[in-house]
This record gives sequence, structure tokens and C-alpha cells, in this order.
Amino acid sequence: MSPQLLFWIPAALRLVIVLAAAAVVGYFLGLTAGLAAGLLFLLALVLVQLNYLYLLSGWLDHPESEKLPDGWGAWTDVFSRLYRLRRDDERNRKELSEWLTRFRQAMSLLPDGVAIMDDVLFLEWCNPAAEKHLGLSNTRDKGMRVTNLIRDPAFIDYIILGHYEQPLTLNVKDRKLIVQIIPFENRRQILVTHDVTETERIDMMRRDFIANASHELRTPLTVINGFLEIAQAQPDLEQSVRMGHLKLMIEQGQRMQNLIEDMLTLTRLESIDYPLRTEQVNIRNLLGQLLQEANALSGGRHKISLDIDGPDIDGNTDELRSAFGNLVTNAIRYTPDGGHIHIQWQQTAKGPQFSVKDSGIGIRAEHIARLTERFYRVDKSRSRETQGTGLGLAIVKHVLLRHGAVLEIESEEGKGSTFLAIFNSTHLLR
Ligand code: ADP
Repeated sequence: MSPQLLFWIPAALRLVIVLAAAAVVGYFLGLTAGLAAGLLFLLALVLVQLNYLYLLSGWLDHPESEKLPDGWGAWTDVFSRLYRLRRDDERNRKELSEWLTRFRQAMSLLPDGVAIMDDVLFLEWCNPAAEKHLGLSNTRDKGMRVTNLIRDPAFIDYIILGHYEQPLTLNVKDRKLIVQIIPFENRRQILVTHDVTETERIDMMRRDFIANASHELRTPLTVINGFLEIAQAQPDLEQSVRMGHLKLMIEQGQRMQNLIEDMLTLTRLESIDYPLRTEQVNIRNLLGQLLQEANALSGGRHKISLDIDGPDIDGNTDELRSAFGNLVTNAIRYTPDGGHIHIQWQQTAKGPQFSVKDSGIGIRAEHIARLTERFYRVDKSRSRETQGTGLGLAIVKHVLLRHGAVLEIESEEGKGSTFLAIFNSTHLLR
């Protein structure tokens, strides 16, 4: 049955009953009494309807707190439909609020900043990344014009020109941001920020590394080319002079080879595809070999001692040989003849510790923090004289990092240096 019929049939029935009751009264008590009874019944009917209207109007004032009354006649249907509408509305609102919460949570986890503005750039909402990048506050700045909040002239120009299809690079405090405005819906715009500080820093490091490496390779190559040109231009050069040139060329070739090997080692150590393979490191064997090599390199020019009083550890023997070897070689290279070098392995409160103490030239305090940077040298000419590549301590740092160890440097200019590799106790063999 159609809803209209459902509504009209009971209403018509009620009217018929009222008229029939009035007719019965009129039949028994006369026409006037019948008419009066009819009017009274109709009045009662109207009062009932008015009462329901009153209840409905009260409910509409507080639909969420008051319960809908049980209806009578057509009101039953009206009330139940209203009740259903309210339930659907509540469910929709709950779903919408859950969705909004999820959306905000997702937005707050985004590393990129997102700020929603209206068509005239008044801030409506922004996520925590946008707050951090642009110094905005979602609570304080809501309803403020974004151009009053971000006062960078480059940003203002970007807004004035309105070429939003192109992103803008902004320097905010010490960070570099890529900013773009994207219009959406008819009257809204999104401001997106992407922090590229770290990527830029890595790019810059890469560029510096390539520039430094090219420079380091060019120097020995220039020397070799120079001697080759002399050999070509003067074929009758005296044997002793030619031998001298050849010796220098071999040294420069060796220098290039050392440099390339160190660069390859560093690249390998940094690669995530090259995980650390650990084994039991026999410290006594390893340091025994290092002592022999140190004595050979020193050729009796230094007094070198070794003291082992600590446990074996888990680690990669080849990598540790390279790191410890670099520290010992440096000690020899930067300690004048007659100096002392003490190599030690001991268990300390912090964990097992490797140290190389020398009585060499020492390092001024301002250089110490930068020594592990690639190609950083206190004295370039001295490093080259001793076949240094400038990459040794960078390799040491990376090897120790891979072993969860740290490098500490104590030094005083003119008095000597101590390089300490401190492991944590998890590397102890169980
Ligand atoms: P290099 O190949 O130039 O020695 P490293 O990375 O091994 O490169 O060392 C970086 C710089 O640290 C060296 O150029 C030198 O100035 C300084 N240095 C390293 N070890 C010592 C040391 N034992 N005594 C004094 N200076 C040192």
C-alpha cells in the first residue's frame, strides 16, 4: 500500500467514527445534542493532534537528548520515520567523525607539510609538519591570512604572480623547503611543503667528494704526465736522472692506487647491500700482525709497544684490521723519529677498547671534530709526503660505526695523540 493511503485511510476512519458517534447521539438525544457531540468529538480529535504537534516541536528543540513519544494513528508512522532519520544521521556523523580523525592522524604522520586555506588564503587547518616547516600554529593562526604568517618576500611574490604550477624554493631558518600551492574544490587551496635540507646536504657532500677526489687524482697524474713529457722531449736523459723520474712516477702511481682503493673501501662500507659479517675476532693474532707491520713501516725509527689485556670480540676481522691498521699507520706517520707508540687492547668499564697512543706532532683542538671528514687534513703537504689519502679516519669511523663502536680522539699539539676505539659490551663473545 502506498504511504499516502496508509496516511489517509486511518484519518478518514477516525473521522467516520466521530461522525457515526455524533449521529448515534443525535438519533437518541435530538439534532442539537448530536451536533454538539459531533463538535466535541472533533475538538477532542484536534486537541490530540495539537498535543502531538507540541511533543514534536519539543523534540525538535533537543532531538539528541529527548526520546520521541509513541505516536497514535498517522503520528506513529511520522515518529518512527523521524526516529530512523535521526539514527541514520547519527551513524553518518559518527562515520564522518571517525573518518576525519583517521584523516588527521594520517596527515599528522606525513613528513610533508599540508595547510588548507580558503580562496583568499585564510588558514583553515594545517598538519604538524606544516607547523614545523613554516612556524604556523593550527590553533593560534586559524583564520589568519597566510601571507601575514609567512612573510618571506619570495613567498609573497609567489602569491602575487600566482604561477602555482611551479614549486617555490624557500629558505626558512636553517631549512630548505620546496613549497607549492595547489587549488582544489572551487574555493580552497592546499599549501604543500617538502623539506629537502637533508637531500641537499647529501647532494652537496657527493659533489664535494667528487670534486675532492678528482683534485686528489689530478695532482699525481699531473706529476706523471710531466715526467712522461720530459722523457719524450729528452730521450737522451742521463740514466740516473731517468731512474729518479721513474721512482717519482711509481710513487705517484702508488698514491693514485691507494686513493682508489680507499674510495672503493669507503663506498663498500657505506653500502646497505654490504651488511657486516661477523665472526670471532682473535685479537691477539690480529694485533700481533699489526705490530709486525708497524715495525716494518717504522723501520726502527720508533719505539713501538703492544699490551693486550682484554677479551676477544664478535666482529669482522678484515674490517677491524683495516681500521686499527689505519690508526697505527697514522701514529707512525705523524710521529717524528725516536718517538713512542703504544698500542693497547683492554677491557674498560665502557666495554672493550683499542687505543693507539703516540708521542707525535699532536693536533690542535679546532681540527679534532673534523678529522673523520673525507679528505680533511691538518697539514696537506705532510699528509701527501707520507702517502696519506685523507680517507683513513673516514674509513675508521665507518668500520667502528658498523661495529656499534665509537672513535674518541685526545690530542695536544706538540705532545702527541691518543685514538680510542670503544666497543660496547654486546660485542663480547659469550
Ligand atoms: P691522511 O691520509 O691524511 O693521514 P687520515 O684520515 O688518516 O688521512 O687523517 C686525517 C688527518 O688527521 C691527517 O691528515 C692528519 O692531519 C691528522 N692525523 C691523523 N692521525 C694523526 C696522528 N696520530 N697524529 C697527528 N695527526 C693525525
